[in-house]
Amino acid sequence: MPVETAPAIEVSQLVELQAVDTQLQDLNELLGDLPKKVDKLRQEEESLINAVDKGKNRLKEIKLALNKAEHRMAEIKQKIDKLKDQLSLVTSNKQYDALTQEIEYLKQEMDEVELEDLELEEEKETLQNDLQEKEENLESLSENLSTRRDRLEDLIAESADKKSELEKVREEKSIHIDPSVLGRYMRIRDARDGLAVVTLDGNSCSGCGFVVPTQSVSFIRKKTLLYNCDICSRFLYFDK
Ligand SMILES: [Zn+2]
Repeated sequence: MPVETAPAIEVSQLVELQAVDTQLQDLNELLGDLPKKVDKLRQEEESLINAVDKGKNRLKEIKLALNKAEHRMAEIKQKIDKLKDQLSLVTSNKQYDALTQEIEYLKQEMDEVELEDLELEEEKETLQNDLQEKEENLESLSENLSTRRDRLEDLIAESADKKSELEKVREEKSIHIDPSVLGRYMRIRDARDGLAVVTLDGNSCSGCGFVVPTQSVSFIRKKTLLYNCDICSRFLYFDK
């Protein structure tokens, strides 16, 4: 849609304004993203700390259980030895059978406890390796986190300065633009992801690909027309 108002000046003013706004948008995104990234690292660190704590507690339990199992194995062995000694002193078959049966029971229990002991030892080894790895990860993550936090603080300070500088520039540039054109620019910018002014790419809008009518293309190239794309409404300009 052609609009006739001192187009040559206004187009270049809009192009400059767009450049400032794009920088501002990038800065705002940066300022929004960085704290999120550091937050994510912090969450990773927390879950790693929790996992290490949990692992350490389980390791304590395993050590206690191993102690108990070894104690029980020694106890059983002692009992079996004692019963075997008694075996040589028995006088009746009945007594002999009772003793051998008791020994058999104890041997069975010994097998069970030994198996449990073995399983606990295996779990202990796996857990110890896992814990070592996690603790190393935690160490490097914590380092990473504090470096990032420092960098973030610097960057936030720098960006805030840069932002207020740009805002000043923006204000100065806006003053010289016709209020109705400026209003249109801002509506389009807000509706189109921050991009209200785009180049003519051949004879298409580089914002949406719409093919601009030939006559309008020549007006845009000569800067005699302030032209908004028929499809995306963005201002179009010719960039040599
Ligand atoms: Zn377009």
